[in-house]
Amino acid sequence: MASIDINQVSKLYDGGVKAVSGVDIQINDGEFIVLVGPSGCGKSTLLRMVAGLESISEGTVRIGDRVVNTVEPADRDIAMVFQNYALYPHMTVRQNMAYGLKNRKTPKAEIEARVAEAARMLELEPYLDRKPRALSGGQRQRVAMGRAIVRKPAAFLFDEPLSNLDAKLRVSMRGEIRKLQRRLGTTSLYVTHDQLEAMTLADRLVVLSGGRIEQIGTPLQVYHRP
Ligand code: ADP
Ligand code: ADP
Repeated sequence: MASIDINQVSKLYDGGVKAVSGVDIQINDGEFIVLVGPSGCGKSTLLRMVAGLESISEGTVRIGDRVVNTVEPADRDIAMVFQNYALYPHMTVRQNMAYGLKNRKTPKAEIEARVAEAARMLELEPYLDRKPRALSGGQRQRVAMGRAIVRKPAAFLFDEPLSNLDAKLRVSMRGEIRKLQRRLGTTSLYVTHDQLEAMTLADRLVVLSGGRIEQIGTPLQVYHRP
């Protein structure tokens, strides 16, 4: 677990688009923060800067006590969950979940134990030897979660992870994500354009507009002001 400190962060893309302007967010250890706002407001850009997938034009990002601006994505101790799952089609569920650990030279017995524990939490035990194409959308999204969980990262970053699911599944999966995050206590930064999703998941919401913070607070503070 770790806090995340986003300090005066801006992003200027080549061509002159200022996608993010002077954003400050202090995420506490174990907190679930949701970045919400309409398409084009800078959510993905901010998340991708925290993930190390996009360079930071100005400002600093700290994870724990480390400034990560120049740290490679693989060395940031974060795990990311995407909307398109990013599963390997030729690998089984078990292999997909183990893959990131194998790359990090984790001992085999430890990998097996972590995959087994994640599969139990996510109710994926019956599907461990299947390939992604033989799974439903919800099951695939659970495998993507499993792949993040087994890493035991300092933080989870979620990029619209539920937007490819149908409405009913979206509601049940967001409940599962929240339960899992509470149980693991992993600091989380979650991007969505869906206000209802944001309200249900967030300890605190950050509303972005035109690359700047418009509001920051608990769902009650942001959406139920008199
Ligand atoms: P959101 O995730 O909220 O939809 P984005 O972070 O994707 O917003 O985009 C914010 C702004 O930055 C938009 O105006 C978008 O067109 C622009 N943008 C995003 N990626 C790039 C890029 N690689 N190059 C130039 N402009 C970009
Ligand atoms: P999202 O809003 O989920 O990021 P988009 O379709 O806006 O999805 O963006 C998909 C990809 O295209 C991203 O990698 C983003 O950085 C890039 N992109 C978005 N807008 C622009 C832009 N104006 N110029 C160049 N690349 C862009």
